[in-house]
Amino acid sequence: MMDLKNLTIKKFNKGLVKKEFSAFEITKAFFDLIKSRDKEIGAYLRLSENTALERAKIVDAELNSNSKLSILAGIPLAIKDNILIKGEITTAASKILENYKASYDATVIKKLKNNGAVFLGKTNMDEFAMGSSTENSAFQKTKNPADLERVPGGSSGGSAAAVAADMAVAALGSDTGGSIRQPANFCGIVGLKPTYGAVSRYGLIAMASSLDQIGPITKTVEDAAILFKEISGKDKFDATSVDIKYNDESPYINYVGDELLNPNFEKIKKLKIGLPKEYFIEGLNKETQKAVQETIENLKKSGFEFKEISLPRTKYALSCYYIIMPAEVSANVARFDGIRYGQMSNVKGQGLSLKDIYLKTRGEGFGEEVKRRIILGTFVLSSGYYDAYYSKAQKVRQMIKHDFEKAFQEVDVILTPVSPTPAFKIGEKTSDPLQMYLEDIFTIPVNLAGLPAVSIPTRTKGLPIGFQLIGKHFREADILGIGQWYERN
Ligand code: GLN
Repeated sequence: MMDLKNLTIKKFNKGLVKKEFSAFEITKAFFDLIKSRDKEIGAYLRLSENTALERAKIVDAELNSNSKLSILAGIPLAIKDNILIKGEITTAASKILENYKASYDATVIKKLKNNGAVFLGKTNMDEFAMGSSTENSAFQKTKNPADLERVPGGSSGGSAAAVAADMAVAALGSDTGGSIRQPANFCGIVGLKPTYGAVSRYGLIAMASSLDQIGPITKTVEDAAILFKEISGKDKFDATSVDIKYNDESPYINYVGDELLNPNFEKIKKLKIGLPKEYFIEGLNKETQKAVQETIENLKKSGFEFKEISLPRTKYALSCYYIIMPAEVSANVARFDGIRYGQMSNVKGQGLSLKDIYLKTRGEGFGEEVKRRIILGTFVLSSGYYDAYYSKAQKVRQMIKHDFEKAFQEVDVILTPVSPTPAFKIGEKTSDPLQMYLEDIFTIPVNLAGLPAVSIPTRTKGLPIGFQLIGKHFREADILGIGQWYERN
């Protein structure tokens, strides 16, 4: 029997094809482990054991009939609970969606289903993906498998904890300001936020539509590349999605042959890496500083060329994000009113007006953080303040994007810390939203600029600490290439 601990997509596929085990056996083993281990971790909100085992059986039957299988066939995955799977409850960890059953598959789910992937269950998250610790879930707290007194990060904390605790081979998360990379960083695994538009958002419960992206959370960079390749591409249901095809004239030479999965390391080693001075500041936790610095030294010793660069508008990124994001949030969650979407409060026989029904339903259905952002967003969009806040923030966003464009004329990839600190204690930052917001200072600029970035664990002992590689638009192959090089050396 395969050891679930170090089971990657790659290893699973090899073992399955060689018939060292069946997909059914492994899926069963995962559920056995989840049933004991998840009592203390709390990564899953719901399991789908029957459908998972059924799907695994189908994969085994296909294998026995000698059909050629996708590399994802039979892979047991965990899915963040803001991604729709047809017929299954999908709550985004909000009370207002407690009983919502998805009526269609998200495009990423459809693609994974077509490849024979198996879904173990839906994972915990901050309500509507708003948060950095998964403490904003309406249902439960998730613990960091590396230290049960600490948060797993957020908002995709359930997905990251499931993978880190070997309760799934890999997972999907979503990232609006860091929600894939930061929990991967806190849990000691890999998280990729793809370029905006690289992966369809159809069937993702929207938080802030101009920033959201779905992406993989995995044990290795190689697995992240495998999953990314399968979920990316243009989708007619998401007008912002694109297909990047190889074309000699195009600067976007993504997916050249098997560039993602079999990087040409000779080319990869010639990529010049930028270190933005604004990201290596005082206030950065000492261990984090040390772990990232060691990684840089190691890469230097292996021959990678580094260059100091500047991203001068970094200091405005957080303020800019906390105007644009809530503005989009307030528009996106307006549909949860108990009539169009969401569970209506019990208002029977009270003779309430329509407005009171809305107020009661939303008052009871949303948690504090969601309400805070609706109020903020409504305020920055209101007629008297639109120009002062929202439209100014849009201009600042352009400048932040421009900073990156300029930097990418000098370097190919940018290396930074992922978060200012390693995983913090449960409850440590809940009373001070601003402290919590500061967690995302190094990840947010990437979403504002629509760039791809991956969080990869450093080799530090103790609490996990990762480093972030940011690439040019649609150059996932560069950051995943360096990542795969690092992982093999
Ligand atoms: N932590 C950030 C926030 O609270 C980012 C969340 C996310 O990426 N979904 O907005």
